[in-house]
Amino acid sequence: TTDAQSFEFQSDVQQVLRLVVHSLYSNKNIFLRELVSNASDACDKLRFEALKAPELYGDQPELRIDLSFDKDARTLTVADSGIGMSRQELIDNLGTIARSGTRQFLEALGEAQKADAQLIGQFGVGFYAAFIVADRVTVTSRRAGSDESFTWESSGDGRFTLAPASQAERGTTIVLHLKEGEDEFLDGWTLRSLVRTYSDHIGFPIRMPVEKDGQPTAEFEPVNQAAALWTRPKAEISDEEYQAFYKHVSHDFGDALAWSHNRVEGNQNFTSLLFIPARAPFDFGFERDARKGLKLYIKRVFIMDAAEDMLPNYLRFVRGVVDSDDLPLNVSREILQGSRQVEKLRSALTRRVLDLLEKTARDEPEKYADFWRAFGAVLKEGLAEDPSNSARIAKLLRFASTHSGERDTLVSLDDYLTRMKPGQETINYLSADGWNAVRHSPQLEGLAAHGVEVLLLHERIDEWAIGYLAEYEGRKLRNVAKGALGRAELGEGGAGTEQQEAIAKAAEGVVGKLAASLGERVSEVRVSQRLTDSPACLVMGEHDMGLHMQRLLKAAGH
Ligand code: ADP
Ligand code: MG
Repeated sequence: TTDAQSFEFQSDVQQVLRLVVHSLYSNKNIFLRELVSNASDACDKLRFEALKAPELYGDQPELRIDLSFDKDARTLTVADSGIGMSRQELIDNLGTIARSGTRQFLEALGEAQKADAQLIGQFGVGFYAAFIVADRVTVTSRRAGSDESFTWESSGDGRFTLAPASQAERGTTIVLHLKEGEDEFLDGWTLRSLVRTYSDHIGFPIRMPVEKDGQPTAEFEPVNQAAALWTRPKAEISDEEYQAFYKHVSHDFGDALAWSHNRVEGNQNFTSLLFIPARAPFDFGFERDARKGLKLYIKRVFIMDAAEDMLPNYLRFVRGVVDSDDLPLNVSREILQGSRQVEKLRSALTRRVLDLLEKTARDEPEKYADFWRAFGAVLKEGLAEDPSNSARIAKLLRFASTHSGERDTLVSLDDYLTRMKPGQETINYLSADGWNAVRHSPQLEGLAAHGVEVLLLHERIDEWAIGYLAEYEGRKLRNVAKGALGRAELGEGGAGTEQQEAIAKAAEGVVGKLAASLGERVSEVRVSQRLTDSPACLVMGEHDMGLHMQRLLKAAGH
């Protein structure tokens, strides 16, 4: 129309859109899942805002998602009675990409000449999936509480238009003008089966026209179960349904690695459904990742996304839902932060996640190895952050070790315990800046000669994190770069005190000369069991800060 105003997509959008369309074409059905997921989010948001402002419902209390098609016009329509979008929200939400770092990431993807479909969802691009099957998309929306509506329209070619509209009811109506050859989506049976496959878990009714003599009528009927997945009994939920739900809550296009679904009754009453993603989002770890945390529901009502207080920071990779029966519906982020109830909830949820990780580590070690590769460094933070669970976290740690000497063959502390030498008392580790430095350290010679295993710590966070773990199963963790090594570290094969004294006596002359010539630069020169091939090495005093740590502090300007 003449009132239409033209806009350009933010530059990244065009690139993402092209990527979405090309790399997801082989799995094009997902466009429907993404649109229904957005419609469901919109219904959740309305229900939440209406807690404080019930008038937002107007004369339409029903929350639902209607799916219909028109064979002649070759259009498919998804209409929800959710929160809707204002003119500005249409511009902001459908013309830009919220996540920073997207461009850099896409460039990196481009270099690899491989657009990985599963990584795409994390950019918040679900909506653009509409362009996989449509060459023109029309979004008409009226925000709850407003009497204005607007139509956003684009052919996915870098620009969109906005024009005033006259939608009678609140919510968003998305019309897909299907591309040539996409007629399969103009079929009631196909659409119903897609809804059942991908969207059955949606907690609002998804409705489709009742068909009569193969023709759609004006009457709608629900086609999904319309019960929030986590409220249903575990035994009735298939793995596929859990995975479909995971994609909805996580915005991940790939499958989850593992999940845990529990209903707790007693002191506090809540249901949790927690997922461990199979891999880390591209910008994982940045503080501005707004998606971290769980979705919080209270008595089945969606309250907020990214409720960070529900889990400690070191479990920030977990996605899912917690639905509390006890918290007041009017909670805010501020109230959550100080709440004793939330604190209890949080420790219960923490235990659930640790249970789940332990179970995965025990029953599916290969899956656990994948988890560790993606999130191990984050879990390590827990040693410092959550001392009350440090024994459980320690059990979940994995390290490279001299046992295999290979960077990617990892061992647990329990593995280590089974291989300790008779008489050995300590769990030995060495940490350095980088794999080669630690793997080829002369500090390992003597230990290797005695056949004693040493854990090889080579990641930035290791020395700091391990510092919080004094012992495991009653065994001290021992940095072998520090102080003198004896029986405790080397086992019975290590020289006993008498023997050591004899050796030290024999070497007195050399040691004295070295000490005299090095003078102030060292605090001590002594005979050591640390080396076999190298004649000498520098070690730190028992109580000195680790070398790697010293370097980190220096780099940070201390
Ligand atoms: P994501 O769902 O991951 O945020 P999408 O690309 O799927 O990303 O959607 C982008 C944004 O557009 C949503 O976050 C939401 O704000 C808005 N949006 C999309 N569909 C709807 C809808 N049906 N009703 C209201 N807002 C919507
Ligand atoms: Mg979405």
